[in-house]
Amino acid sequence: MVEKWSYSESIESSEIVNLEKKYGHFINGSFVSPKSKKYFDTISPSTEELLSKVSFGGKEDVDSAVASAKEGFKTWTKVKPVDRSKYLFKIARLIQERSREFAVLESMDGGKPIRESRDVDIPQVSANFFYFAGWADKLELSWSNSKFKPYGVAGQIIPWNFPLLMLAWKVAPALATGNVVVLKPAETTPLTALMFAQICAEAGLPDGVFNLVTGNGETGSYIVNHKDVDKIAFTGSTVVGKQIQASLAGTGKGLTLELGGKAANIVYEDASIDQAVEGVVNGIFFNQGHVCCAGSRLLIQESIQDQFIEKLERRMQQLRVGNPLDKNTDIGAINSKQQLEKITELVESGVNDGGSIYQTECDFPGNGFWFKPTLFTNVQPAYRIAREEIFGPVLTTITFRTPEEAIEIANNTEYGLSAGIWSEKGSKILWTADRLDAGVIWSNTFNKFDPSSPFGGYKESGFGREGGRHGLLSYLKEDK
Ligand code: NDP
Repeated sequence: MVEKWSYSESIESSEIVNLEKKYGHFINGSFVSPKSKKYFDTISPSTEELLSKVSFGGKEDVDSAVASAKEGFKTWTKVKPVDRSKYLFKIARLIQERSREFAVLESMDGGKPIRESRDVDIPQVSANFFYFAGWADKLELSWSNSKFKPYGVAGQIIPWNFPLLMLAWKVAPALATGNVVVLKPAETTPLTALMFAQICAEAGLPDGVFNLVTGNGETGSYIVNHKDVDKIAFTGSTVVGKQIQASLAGTGKGLTLELGGKAANIVYEDASIDQAVEGVVNGIFFNQGHVCCAGSRLLIQESIQDQFIEKLERRMQQLRVGNPLDKNTDIGAINSKQQLEKITELVESGVNDGGSIYQTECDFPGNGFWFKPTLFTNVQPAYRIAREEIFGPVLTTITFRTPEEAIEIANNTEYGLSAGIWSEKGSKILWTADRLDAGVIWSNTFNKFDPSSPFGGYKESGFGREGGRHGLLSYLKEDK
């Protein structure tokens, strides 16, 4: 009889990361102290330890960053497209060279498992810079009947779920198309963006082309409302996205919004069940469910419900929750106390509404913010957990009988970002995809990303595309 083996952790060392005690903003090619004279803490959500102090961007700080960007634009416009390409290529290479450091820092500051930051986030970051490096000198040839020019100063505001990857999705196409950038990372995850600023300096990017101001929503609103910012690219909540859209109405500034989602992951009875269970788990538990395109609504055909849920619960119980720097961890820390409270409140509403809850057995580390992988069954489409974006490791299940009913339930949401379809029949997949209101649809897989593939939503999930040739158009306007 073999005894049960005890668990051996495999911790990635954090010694590779050299953190400063405090950071300034990155303006005009160097780090500067905040004019606001204020700093705020950035902590590790898995230990609640202080990692560093970061500058708060007040109005004067944003004014300096935008003034620097305006000057930077004059220089950047004179740089030949082929040379813009070389800068992007160099940035991509430097990110690759320091990829381990970036991955560890991303997991420390944001709480995501090192397995994901190391194998997904950071490789995708450098891939985006390589990809857009390739476009910089081909823009003239890409649209046969129209001529385009850059907006000028692009204000970019990004969230905390994929801090460096969202930076890459925004900065790489902006620079490739000849724009300059003022970027604000999320309040809880500024550190990899600050390290990226060091990389820009190392790559010799001309001063003022990339500027970084750290801060909170107030800082973001100074960028949005600055008269010399020509284009806003925002990823975050639908609530803030709508506020930004209202502020920009009538200003003539460019705007792209990548907002929330409540994706349906549809499993038909003819799907390969084990493969679909894996895909559903990846769809919702990847990055603690802090994913705008997460497959957070499982739509399952009634005939396979019992079998599927049994397998799903068994698989969920195998998920290892804990230290993000442990290479075996599947689910890391919830990004902030505030987000943990939001998830907890929504889950409580699901129980009070009458949903049946299943949560895995797991021990949490002493400090930090954690939530058990959670599955709801017996959910009605009207429950808040079936309608609102939970942005945590919580899956809600709704059953359907016919493909028509699946489409009706899937589209019965104000969002339209992504969806998944599981079936062995290609014709059924195409029939379903044709009828779903979603910007990205995966079949027999989920959460697959590629820099050459456009990403973005419909309805309250926003507008504009990031990635691919379509993504370039988000940073170009017609030159009439
Ligand atoms: P927010 O939309 O508030 O934050 C996104 C970014 O916008 C952050 O950098 C934030 O700064 C900044 N910001 C906040 N208010 C303003 C403003 N008025 N003007 C300009 N910029 C602003 O998302 P939260 O972090 O508060 O998360 C709330 C919910 O949003 C989550 O629970 C989730 O449902 C959803 N969300 C969706 C994301 C997506 O990818 N679709 C990403 C993140 C969140 P700061 O960080 O300092 O607040």
